[in-house]
Amino acid sequence: VYGCCHSWKGRSMNVGNSSSLAGRVAIVTGGGRGLGREHCLLLAKEGAMVMVNDLGAKVDGSGADASPANDVVAEIKKMGGDAIANGENVADFAGAKRMIDAAIAKWGKLDILVLNAGILRDRMLANMDEAEWDAVINVHLKGTFAPARHAAAYWRDQSKKTGQPTKGRIIVTSSTSGLYGNVGQTNYGAAKAGIAAFAVIAARELKRFGVTVNALSPSAQTRMTEGLRELTPEQRAERDPAWVSPMVVYLCSEEAQDITGRVFQAGFGRIAILEGWRRGAEAKQTRDPREAGRLWREMWPKVRKNAGMDGIESD
Ligand code: NAD
Repeated sequence: VYGCCHSWKGRSMNVGNSSSLAGRVAIVTGGGRGLGREHCLLLAKEGAMVMVNDLGAKVDGSGADASPANDVVAEIKKMGGDAIANGENVADFAGAKRMIDAAIAKWGKLDILVLNAGILRDRMLANMDEAEWDAVINVHLKGTFAPARHAAAYWRDQSKKTGQPTKGRIIVTSSTSGLYGNVGQTNYGAAKAGIAAFAVIAARELKRFGVTVNALSPSAQTRMTEGLRELTPEQRAERDPAWVSPMVVYLCSEEAQDITGRVFQAGFGRIAILEGWRRGAEAKQTRDPREAGRLWREMWPKVRKNAGMDGIESD
C-alpha cells in the first residue's frame, strides 16, 4: 500500500513492507472523532484500507453530520492511504449490512471490524427516562450486535467456501463504567458490561472460522470525557486517545491469532489485561433460607470484593 516514507504527526516513518496490516480491509464504526479516528489513522498507517463509518452524531446521539468521517478519509488519503467514508447508523440492522457489503464491494473482502461508535445519556437511575435508557442500549449493544452479526455470517461463508479458517478480527468497545460500575450510568454501564460478555461469547462461537473477538476498555480525553475535570498539560498528554490504538492494531494483526475472548484496558498511562467473573467461595445448596444465610456469612470472608472504579479491590 505504501511505497516508502510518509509524514506521521510530524515524524517521518518508513512503513513500507514492515506494515503489520498491509492489504487488510478494516471498518471502524464511529471513526470520525476521538478514539475511532485514532484507530482509523493507525490502521491506515499500518497498511490497512479503512472504511470510516460515522453518523456524525452529538454526544447524546442526536443529529447527523458527514464531515467527521469525510475529514478522517481526507487525512488518510493525504498520507497516501486508502479510505472511504460511510454514514450508516450502526444500530440499524439493515444499515449495518449495507456498511459491511459496501466495504466488501469496494475492496473485495473484509478482515477487521472495530466497533467503537458510542453515545452517552447519563442520569441517576431514579431519574432516568425510557428514551435515555433505550438510546444508549440501542447504539452500544445493538450497534455492536448488528455489524458483528453480518461480518460473522460473511466470515462463516468464506471459511466454508475456501475450507480454510479466515483471519477475521472483531474489536468491540467496553468501558470501566460497566466492568467496574460507575454511578450515574446504569444504561451505559449495562451496555458496556454486555459488550464485554458479547466478546467472550462471540469469540467462542467464531473460533472455528478463525475469527478473534476481543473487547477494549479505553480511557482517553475526547469530547465524551471533555470537561469532567481540570487537567494539567501532562495529564492531557497522557490522555491523548492515540495511546489507545496501538493495542487495538496489534490485536488485528496476524500475529495475534491466538488472542481471543479477552477484555483489555488501554489509556491513562497503562495497558492491562482484565480478569473476568469466576466462582469464589462455594457451599452445598440448601432449601432453608436461614441455612442459606449462615452459608453466605461463612463464605463471605473467603471471597474477593468487587473491584472499585480503579479496577482493583477497593470497594
Ligand atoms: P466520541 O463522541 O468522540 O466519538 C464517538 C463517535 O461515534 C462520534 O463521532 C459519533 O458521531 C459516532 N456515533 C455515535 N452514534 C453512532 C451511530 N449510531 N452510528 C455511527 N456512529 C455513531 O467518543 P469517544 O470517547 O471517542 O468514544 C469512542 C468509544 O469509546 C465509545 O464506544 C465510548 O463509549 C467508548 N469509551 C470511551 C472512553 C473515553 O475515555 N473516551 C471510555 C470508555 C469507553
